[in-house]
Amino acid sequence: MHVVPPALERLIESFMQLPGIGKKTATRLALNLLRKPAENSRQFAESLLNLHSSIQLCSCCFTFSENDPCTICAAANRNSELVCVVEEPGDLLAIEKTSSYRGHYHVLHGVLSPIDGIGPAEIKVRELVARVQNGTVKEVLIATSSTVPGEATASYLIDVLNKLPVKVTRLACGIPMGMDIKYADKYTLAKAIEARSTAK
Ligand SMILES: [Zn+2]
Repeated sequence: MHVVPPALERLIESFMQLPGIGKKTATRLALNLLRKPAENSRQFAESLLNLHSSIQLCSCCFTFSENDPCTICAAANRNSELVCVVEEPGDLLAIEKTSSYRGHYHVLHGVLSPIDGIGPAEIKVRELVARVQNGTVKEVLIATSSTVPGEATASYLIDVLNKLPVKVTRLACGIPMGMDIKYADKYTLAKAIEARSTAK
């Protein structure tokens, strides 16, 4: 005899695939949906079904977007000569929240991590180099996290980009060492963008 109905068990297992969700939280979320009207669950399921069909990667900056190019790349009032390099779309959102950055972005979709088999070919490095070689980019602001892999990625990018005719800058200090930039408060992050320094 199943104590938990199989349909509920399947939902609990689905929630457990998400990062940071253990059995207890997954059960709470599933029961919460069950207590609400069926329409809520239908809308939730529809959002999940549409996720991959409506969202793609912007072919210019590689963030998630419903349009290609994304609204940031397509915006006429943003500075296309300045490109901020981030690890993932969540970091882009954190910088956008500061409202102090009006340039473009480049999303790497990861960081270099030789131990996990992630080299430059596994993240969007080649695409960044191609963008810089196209000539419109005058400054690349590297905004990877100050974690060990984030720093290693920044060093690698500085080496590669310094061979090209482009100014390379980094976020100024203020972001604590070891911190993922998504978790920096928006004032600290805004200050770090404003006071960015040339990367050597
Ligand atoms: Zn874009």
